Amino acid sequence: MSNVALLRSFTQCLKNVSHINAGGVTTLTRSLHDEKRKPFALYGGRYTVTMLPGDGIGPEMMGYVRQVFRYAGAPVDFEEICFDPNSEEETDFYDAITSIKRNGVAIKGNIESRKNVPGQISRNVELRNHLDLFSYIMHCKSFPGVETRHKDVDIVIVRQNTEGEYAMLEHENAPGIVESLKVVTRANSERLARHAFELAIKMGRKKVTIVHKANIMKVSDGLFLETCSNVAKEYPQIEHDNMIIDNCCMQLVSKPQQFDVMIMTNLYGNIVSNLACGLIGGPGLLSGRNLGPKYAVFEPGTRNTGKSIAGKNIANPIAMLSASAKLLEHLGLNYHANLLTDAITKTINEDQIYTPDLHGMATSIDVVQNIIRNIQEETKVQNWGGSRAGFRS
Ligand code: ATP
Repeated sequence: MSNVALLRSFTQCLKNVSHINAGGVTTLTRSLHDEKRKPFALYGGRYTVTMLPGDGIGPEMMGYVRQVFRYAGAPVDFEEICFDPNSEEETDFYDAITSIKRNGVAIKGNIESRKNVPGQISRNVELRNHLDLFSYIMHCKSFPGVETRHKDVDIVIVRQNTEGEYAMLEHENAPGIVESLKVVTRANSERLARHAFELAIKMGRKKVTIVHKANIMKVSDGLFLETCSNVAKEYPQIEHDNMIIDNCCMQLVSKPQQFDVMIMTNLYGNIVSNLACGLIGGPGLLSGRNLGPKYAVFEPGTRNTGKSIAGKNIANPIAMLSASAKLLEHLGLNYHANLLTDAITKTINEDQIYTPDLHGMATSIDVVQNIIRNIQEETKVQNWGGSRAGFRS
């Protein structure tokens, strides 16, 4: 995509969220909840969900999702679309966009970027921009069964997902002199902040921390900080403060329990979410939600490809399976979502079946089979009068 095309796509994104008056000043923004969510594709009582396996460990993880859904009896069918990472052809990519627009929801692995050449925009970034998935949520909560330096971490990270340093607008002015644009808009910052505060209320949280580097990037991060601080005034019931990104990283590794909900721009969000995953046990455990007014896409929290561990039956399947549990919850299939979440939590905290990333000896399949066993155990109990069915013996 050329820089001009990218700028056009940003303008389109802004039109989605704001009314820009003649002077170019944004005067009105919509929150996540104002616009109508795309209805889910529901045929004969079964949902259709777009599945983008991506590259590296993605395809094997999707196989586990299918298996676990079958055992959980989740009424979901997948429309699978694969990409050839080396192809210049865009057909599959636009098929994926059309499919998500039709189904309203997707689960994805990380799509490998094509050749590392300027002007080639990451398909992951392009997908998020096309679907206006402006907010990325990662709930980073310690598993009591997993041994880590810090206990009781419970942080909700709300990350801007479509602009900032990920504008991918770079050019070389003169040989050896490169400029890279960081795009911050009031419209996107405002709806992100509103989403974060509304989420904080919904989740019964107490404090939102705005993360920035406004002492150096006074205009761009200054706008983000000012906009989020203004939105914070609309939510007096939620405490708020702000922290400079470098101090924030130091505080996170020293005393992560002090954080509740955090809101930040795109690149800081990428770094902080990886750091937070590291705090609770690495890349194989947490999931992330890409949310916009109309569509939702679920994926492993740190968005890794894991190329070097693909096909070896050693990748931790928990992150992708957690993403699939969040997807079930998003579809309103709460029984199946809870069934899967409980089976995953028991596997980690009680059964302690760990792949090598958690210093265990189990294979990916061992973990999946244990989760399936837990699901079977729970549904068997239900059939014979377990609490889920509301029967008591
Ligand atoms: P790789 O080194 O595997 O080719 P990479 O350098 O592109 O991958 P990422 O894909 O970003 O890096 O992954 C970062 C690290 O996390 C890698 O060491 C990868 O093997 C590991 N990793 C990612 N996902 C998982 C997972 N589900 N289970 C275990 N380890 C994982």
